[in-house]
Amino acid sequence: MTPPTVDTALLQRAAADIARSRRTLALTGAGISVESGIPPFRGKGGLWEKIDPMKYAHIDALVKDPETVWRVLIKDMKEVLDRARPNDAHRGLARLEEMGLLQTVITQNIDGLHQAAGSRDVIEFHGSFARQRCMDCGRKMATADVELHELPPRCRCGGVLRPEAIFFGELIPPEHLLRSQQLAAACDTMLVIGTSAVVQPFASLPVIARGAGATVIEINPEKTPLTGEISDYLLAGKAGQVMRALVDIIEKELRETRP
Ligand code: NAD
Ligand code: ZN
Repeated sequence: MTPPTVDTALLQRAAADIARSRRTLALTGAGISVESGIPPFRGKGGLWEKIDPMKYAHIDALVKDPETVWRVLIKDMKEVLDRARPNDAHRGLARLEEMGLLQTVITQNIDGLHQAAGSRDVIEFHGSFARQRCMDCGRKMATADVELHELPPRCRCGGVLRPEAIFFGELIPPEHLLRSQQLAAACDTMLVIGTSAVVQPFASLPVIARGAGATVIEINPEKTPLTGEISDYLLAGKAGQVMRALVDIIEKELRETRP
């Protein structure tokens, strides 16, 4: 079955908004990585249907019983994330940055796929799963290099390793929050891709942008709580498909105007 085509008039409008904008930001969530084979957490088929996040993705659970949290949550995530590769949406954002049309990506994702696609200015709002940190001595190592012979895996000092991602009950690094809020208040176009925008404080960023007069464009196959309230319009479709079409239009227009 061929996927439904994205509304061409809206794509043209988005291309024009981005080309005209002096400061464009992208906000991304789990949906941008679905086409890379990483399922989202919420909704049908999501991880939170199978396991209770407050039981297994809370910092208290990790501290009290790291073996169970590794066995139920982190081990499977590592297997999925070790295999995942960027898709056209991650690549499209990297291309926009390269063309000077995108300032920063602010992501809720922990999969490292924006950097893998070539994006340079990425704020990892919820930290990263690409690195592990020893809970005793603080030593860091790449998640891909961690072997799972025993659970939980341990540092050479004997301490337990944990992902450098934020668990429930942990603080967003204040410097990430502050810089994200400043960028949102100063942008004139914001792309909100693959996020239902219900997890705070990330969800407040489109509201800040809109309040400061920015154009807010959503890319998502479904409507979200932002749609019709905060966002100006929704490019309905999968992130990879929409971003590929959008970047194609922008590149074509740039070739015509800057030969
Ligand atoms: P979420 O609530 O933001 O929901 C995912 C959104 O993606 C939904 O709005 C859905 O309609 C949309 N979506 C689904 N398929 C899509 C596609 N192909 N293209 C574009 N959009 C699509 O996210 P969540 O799953 O509830 O995650 C909550 C938290 O967990 C966030 O911090 C999230 O980043 C994190 N998480 C990260 C990863 C990852 O790193 N890849 C994966 C799962 C969850
Ligand atoms: Zn250690």
